[in-house]
Amino acid sequence: RVGIGAQKTRTGRLKKPFVKVEDMSQLYRPFYLQLTNMPFINYSIQKPCSPFDVDKPSSIQKQTQVKLRIQTDGDKCGGTPIQLQLKEKKKKGYCECCLMKYEDLETHLLSEQHRNFAQSNQYQVVDDIVSKLVFDFVEYERDTPEKKRIKYSV
Ligand SMILES: [Zn+2]
Repeated sequence: RVGIGAQKTRTGRLKKPFVKVEDMSQLYRPFYLQLTNMPFINYSIQKPCSPFDVDKPSSIQKQTQVKLRIQTDGDKCGGTPIQLQLKEKKKKGYCECCLMKYEDLETHLLSEQHRNFAQSNQYQVVDDIVSKLVFDFVEYERDTPEKKRIKYSV
């Protein structure tokens, strides 16, 4: 009975407009896109805006403003609040080393599991490729404060 009830709520037709994608073998759940307005190619929008950016030419202007503010981060008036916003925004994602999802990148990088991986020999495959490359930069010695002092005394 519960099954029937659940089924009832799961049947019906999609609200238009929609796109439904389904594997022909019918082994997988279909997935859908339902929007109030389907994409419309807007030729009148100014380049280089996306032709699908229909009503929001202002959003692109905002984006460039943000970029400019980050570049001139010495300017405290506009730059500070945006930088804070970026810092506060936690980076969610998936770690391919630990095979696990995380809510905050920084916290995950400090977790025991990830640190174990980072210090393991699992990066041998990378090191093997790196060892085939030729190091041809000028390598300076470390600029230690002690050396500076010696220079000054001489
Ligand atoms: Zn990890």
